This record gives sequence, C-alpha cells and structure tokens, in this order.
Amino acid sequence: MELKTLNEVEINLVTSSKINQVDFENLTFGNIFTDHMLVCDYKNGAWQMPSIVPYAPFMIDPSAKVFHYGQAIFEGMKAYKDQQDAVWLFRPDENYKRFNKSATRMAMPEVPETVFLGGLKKLLEVDREWVRKGKGNTLYIRPFMIATGHGVIAAPSQEYRFMIILSPAKSYYSGEVKVLIAEHYSRAANGGIGAAKAAGNYSAQFYPTKLANEQGFQQIIWTDDATHTKLEEAGTMNVFFRINDTLLTAPTSERILDGVTRKSVIELAKRENIDVEVRSVLVDELVEAAKNGSLKEIFGAGTAAVINPIVGFSYLGTYYELPKLENAIALEIKEKLTNIQYKLADDTFGWTVKI
Ligand SMILES: *Cc1c(COP(=O)(O)O)cnc(C)c1O
Repeated sequence: MELKTLNEVEINLVTSSKINQVDFENLTFGNIFTDHMLVCDYKNGAWQMPSIVPYAPFMIDPSAKVFHYGQAIFEGMKAYKDQQDAVWLFRPDENYKRFNKSATRMAMPEVPETVFLGGLKKLLEVDREWVRKGKGNTLYIRPFMIATGHGVIAAPSQEYRFMIILSPAKSYYSGEVKVLIAEHYSRAANGGIGAAKAAGNYSAQFYPTKLANEQGFQQIIWTDDATHTKLEEAGTMNVFFRINDTLLTAPTSERILDGVTRKSVIELAKRENIDVEVRSVLVDELVEAAKNGSLKEIFGAGTAAVINPIVGFSYLGTYYELPKLENAIALEIKEKLTNIQYKLADDTFGWTVKI
C-alpha cells in the first residue's frame, strides 16, 4: 500500500530538539515523547486543518465530555528503521480501519485517511531521527481521539480532537508473566465496547488486575462474561495456547479485540506449517491439558510486546506451571515477525509500508 500525502498541514517546528538529552539505551516504555505531535480538531461537523506542533500540554474546558463520559479511543502502532535508514510501518491500514470502527462504536466522527495515515507520515518525516536503527529499537505511535466539546449534558460531543504522539521504545520485556484466570470479573460483554480500543476498557481492567498483582500474578486471562468458561484475552493482548503441536486462539467477537499481531501470528504460523485452530478454547480444556502434559505454551500477542510468553496460570486456587521449552513456538514466531518488521527477512505478505 501507499500512504496518502497530507498537503494541507500547518507545521510549527521546535527551535531546538531535545533528542540529545534522551538516553536511548535506558528507555522506560511510553515515558518520553518526541519533539512534535499532530493535532486536528473537529468542529461544526468538519475536520479542520491539521497541524504539527511542538509536543506540549494543551488546555481544554473542565466540562469537556472526555472527562465525564469517557468518549476516548486510541491506537497503538510502531515505526522501525532498516539497515539503510528507511522508516517502515507494519500494516498501518489495519490500525486506521480499526480506529474508525472504534470511533463509530463510541459515537465519534471517523477520521479521514489523509489526516490519520497522511498526518502520521508527515509527523514521522519531521521526527525521523527519533526512530533508531537496530533490532529492538522502535518508535511507538499513539494516535488517539478525545471529546473536547463542553457541557456536562450526557450526549455525544459536537467537538473532538485527534492527535498523534510518538514515544521511542526498546523491545518490551515484562519479566516472567504468571496469569490468573478470571472467575468473576470481565473485560468485555456482548453488546458492549470490548471490540473497540476505547479508553474505558482499560480503566475497567485496572482494579481486577491490581487484585491479581497483589496475589503475585502479572496479568489476568479474561473469560467470557456470561459463563467464565471460555478463554478470551490475556491482559490487553490476544492470547494463544499451544496444546501438543497445535496453536489455539479464540475467534474475534464483540468481546475480543481484532489484534493486528494476532492475525499476523495466525498467518505466519500457517506459512510455517504449524497447525492453527481459531475456535473457542475452554478453561476446562486448558486445565486438563496442563494436567496431562499436553499444554506446552501460552502467550499473549500485541503491538507493544509483540509476543509475551506466559510461564504459568492459576485457576480456582491451583497453580499450573508450564514446561520450559528449548524450541518454543512463541519465540520462533516472534523472531520471524520482528525480522519482517525490521526488514531483515522478505516480507512475502506485503505487510510493511515505507514512509
Ligand atoms: C490493542 C489490543 C490488542 C492487541 O492488538 P494489536 O493490534 O495486536 O496491537 C489486544 N487486545 C486488546 C484488548 C487491545 O486493546
């Protein structure tokens, strides 16, 4: 694919870059931002001229709907630099489409492609020095939209702000991840907003996750809200299970987010002749497989960590530890996927897009 060009944009550059103050070897995820950000406001029923301006706080009215009714959505993407210093995106069209799906579900206006993808291209051109060469270095991209219209009447806002901010990141390592299988709390429900990348889905997860943390678990594997018998997502990632030599993952639904990493893992695994089954995976099935030794791996899949191996899970008070494997599929797939992203392997799928 070709990224659309954004011609109508106001650019106001910083007078001096802060890049020399950044220790790129010791970055905490999502903590430092580049010199510039993209801003585009929606009012009077139309998107206004976007601008690229110095990264800085901004003012909004205390009665803005985002504070009271949570009309807020986001995306998570990454930019990579290859050995020749070219900057690449990974399946950005998927993030663009999903963003507008989220917008529709939250009664927010869709963002035009020229603003989202064209604006991102422009912003990356301006801040391209912030994308560092070398595997493991990325620039995390956070597009988001908030309701800025004022007034506490409970109705969709008439005004919105779309923004893109960029944060340099090292490959994400979260340490050993033990998970708790949800018996009571839910991330999403049928008819709800679980398939949207809505801010509220995250805040709703914080409290149950905090309780899990206190018990020594880093994440929760969410189960379906009605019966708590089906395994759905791991924290804020899609989740895969390897039983014998088959990878299992749940189909996307109103409760399960359609992750770009998830679908890339499925396609890559199929290319590698690994058996993949997209179907409901039951908690009972997992416990049984853990008991009889056929459960080999569990891993989360999402843009930030790419693949996040899980070392064990707890269900109804019993902890089940996974075997330590020499040739984990999780690591093999992660290597293949990141090689495509960094242009170290042929992109036979056509997933990478040059800036
Ligand atoms: C963002 C997200 C994912 C992962 O999606 P990617 O496109 O792979 O980054 C999975 N689950 C939830 C709930 C998410 O918000």
